[in-house]
Amino acid sequence: MKIAMIGTGYVGLVSGACFAEFGVSVVCIDKDRNKISDLKKGKIPIYEKNLEEIVKKNAENGRLSFSTDYKENIPAADIVFIAVGTPSRHGDGYADLSYVYSAAKEIAENLKGYTVIVDKSTVPVGTARKVKRIIKETNPDADFDVASNPEFLREGSAINDFVRPDRVVLGVETKRAEKLLKELYRPLYIRETPMVITDLESAELIKYASNSFLAVKISFINEIANLCERTGGNIKDISTGMGLDKRIGSKFLHAGPGYGGSCFPKDVSALVKTFHDNGMTGRIVESVIQVNNSQKSKMVAKIELALGGSVYNKKIAVLGLTFKPETDDMRDAPSLTIIPALVSNGALVYAADPEGMEEAAKVLKGVSYENDPYKVCENADGIVLITEWNEYRALNLKKLKKVMKGDVFIDLRNIYSHEIMKNAGFRYFCVGTPEKTQEWD
Ligand code: NAD
Repeated sequence: MKIAMIGTGYVGLVSGACFAEFGVSVVCIDKDRNKISDLKKGKIPIYEKNLEEIVKKNAENGRLSFSTDYKENIPAADIVFIAVGTPSRHGDGYADLSYVYSAAKEIAENLKGYTVIVDKSTVPVGTARKVKRIIKETNPDADFDVASNPEFLREGSAINDFVRPDRVVLGVETKRAEKLLKELYRPLYIRETPMVITDLESAELIKYASNSFLAVKISFINEIANLCERTGGNIKDISTGMGLDKRIGSKFLHAGPGYGGSCFPKDVSALVKTFHDNGMTGRIVESVIQVNNSQKSKMVAKIELALGGSVYNKKIAVLGLTFKPETDDMRDAPSLTIIPALVSNGALVYAADPEGMEEAAKVLKGVSYENDPYKVCENADGIVLITEWNEYRALNLKKLKKVMKGDVFIDLRNIYSHEIMKNAGFRYFCVGTPEKTQEWD
């Protein structure tokens, strides 16, 4: 079997490499010439654990190749995946589908023999049908089916998620397409991974509903955390107590600075737009966006209060910039809201991140970067931990306290405790415990 993966970003590259690992012949196609040229030299454009080894191994054994050329590669493909970006359209919150449609058109121009064209990108309900129309209009003689196979991998554990998913969702219209896709996913089928076979619309909606539901959990626990700060109660204990209920589950119940990343913000917004386009209001998802935006702003206020009411001329050391650990992805990271607000209020921001500094430097201006967490904290008035990298979970707190000027540690991920921090000489602020509120009072 031969497959082509259009778009060689987080999803396309990981999926392409993993399919090659399954034994399939894969060509990853991207419009970005530099990316393809780097990949041909074995240079991986993103940080993702174990990806480099898998890419290298499969490129060497000839199962994985890279190209910018549709014409050369699409005719031979049995299955073509569309894994291009679907970012938020500027200003209005709709998913920008221009990359998907342009890929569909170029695929259509080069089809030869029966081919299944699969949306792997996260796309609003109805997109697969639109892709089908584009292909038919561009190439009326084409022999093809469309399918929807949304991807659920998480950056930071993408390879593991891809090869050990909770489920594979296949939205199909014909038995022929279903058979081919099941054949491709056979290695997972053998491992008894549940396969959810649906129509196109259900598959598209499963992805949006899943991401939005996880965003609901995060915003819900953040609201309870904010309540705790007023009423007393410890959000970590509350999350544990709630999460042990199997109907609720413990995942995505961690209070923090609000969700970010390449998926949740844009996907929740796009779902809101889908409700609107259908004459409805998605009241829960609309609230989720409001709660999340206000959570990020609250973090700025929290930092200012912890530093005595103003950050003007204060040196703030930030630990962690990426939207979550184990990725270099800065898209919609909470740091992108928090840090510019601090800078514009006169703070002198110094930041560290194990993998994200290069990406961060492209989008966060007025910040000094320094990789070593102890160096970045030298003479700082306060430390703000934004991303819970493992490197920051076991810091030498005595050493940290010694190098800084002030004594404020603001932990936006609740990875330390009041007791530990107090013993190390810090005034400790986190999310969702009353002690912090008392500090402010
Ligand atoms: P990305 O921005 O990292 O990569 C997209 C790639 O597509 C880029 O390299 C771009 O150059 C390429 N591209 C754009 N138009 C093209 C075209 N016409 N032909 C060939 N290449 C083209 O995006 P991503 O993070 O991999 O996300 C891809 C899709 O998968 C999105 O819809 C996203 O919502 C979804 N998704 C992402 C994740 C994630 O964790 N990143 C997880 C699940 C689903």
